[in-house]
Amino acid sequence: MNQRGYGGPLRYIQGPGVIADIGRYAASLGQSALVVVDSFLWDGLRGRIAGSLEAAGVEARFLRFGGESSDTEVERCIGEARAAAVVIGVGGGKALDTAKITASHIGARIVTVPTIASTDSPTSAIGVIYSPEGVYDCVVRCGRNPDVVLVDSAVIAAAPARFLVSGMGDALSTFFEARSNQDTRSRNYIGDGYAPTAAGLAIARACHDVLMRDGRAALAAARANRLTPAVETIIEANTLLSGLGFENCGVSAAHGIHDALTVLGPTHRFFHGEKVAFGTICLLVLENRPRAELEEVIDFCIDLGLPTTLADLGLAAVREDEMRAVGEAAMAPASVIHSVPVALDSRLVADAIWTASAIAEARGAERDPRRPT
Ligand SMILES: [Zn+2]
Repeated sequence: MNQRGYGGPLRYIQGPGVIADIGRYAASLGQSALVVVDSFLWDGLRGRIAGSLEAAGVEARFLRFGGESSDTEVERCIGEARAAAVVIGVGGGKALDTAKITASHIGARIVTVPTIASTDSPTSAIGVIYSPEGVYDCVVRCGRNPDVVLVDSAVIAAAPARFLVSGMGDALSTFFEARSNQDTRSRNYIGDGYAPTAAGLAIARACHDVLMRDGRAALAAARANRLTPAVETIIEANTLLSGLGFENCGVSAAHGIHDALTVLGPTHRFFHGEKVAFGTICLLVLENRPRAELEEVIDFCIDLGLPTTLADLGLAAVREDEMRAVGEAAMAPASVIHSVPVALDSRLVADAIWTASAIAEARGAERDPRRPT
């Protein structure tokens, strides 16, 4: 691959209260909008958004998101869109994905307004479709990134801290997965796939540096719903740096192991980023990275309360045959795990998961001798 490619949203705006400016940003894209709003925000945010759009002369139709990013839900949105020039998604990842996919079907411009910082989907051109029952179905490439990503940090700081922590777990994988893809010269997610640019790789590195510098201070503030510069920087790392990093450089075993772990029921109650954090520890074991790197990641996860062991993921009693099934699921031909610079088989994946958990458990005991092992 001799061509390198870079992509991202046209604009990213972040700060307390920026939701009040949504009318101005939407009006620069078109005069009619479909607004898909997450159900739990329907009463709280809809009025403010409607007022701003009206003041800017944008005719808006509001649709309460059904809760699942499914084909049925996308069809319902397309039916309601009535040739809207802009689709605005407000809420969590699934509402935003539905808005992005709807916009790509009707050729509309797109604005995402994430209200939690738990994943890096708001900036990307990728949407995920689930069955109406919530089982993963497929990834949709929307063809374009959002025109505007509007991140109201005051809204995000008001949400439970677990969302911000989970977003840090997802962002923790970005640099290490970018490095896997660089080592194997894999294609990124821009268009049909290019080699990453120096810009993409630098962003993935910046994502890691910001997490290590500000992650712990951000958690201390977020626990009390306070908005400090560290929280602002972590919101940006979780949303923009991680989003640009994964899309421009690719994902690998942290996400591959995350996907495979979902074959085990107890993991379903954990957030995406929580499982990806554990997957990142597994990735470092799988790639046999230096001890200091592994300890930096494990210590960060322990300090933030992200899962580092199988027991932390509700899998204290997991059996050998169950872990073999995880290893086999990870080896599916379409899995993203294959971009690691290691010859893989299902036994190796399972062994890396067992070992990652054991190393993290020993590290936890070493740091806190009172912690039971
Ligand atoms: Zn992710």
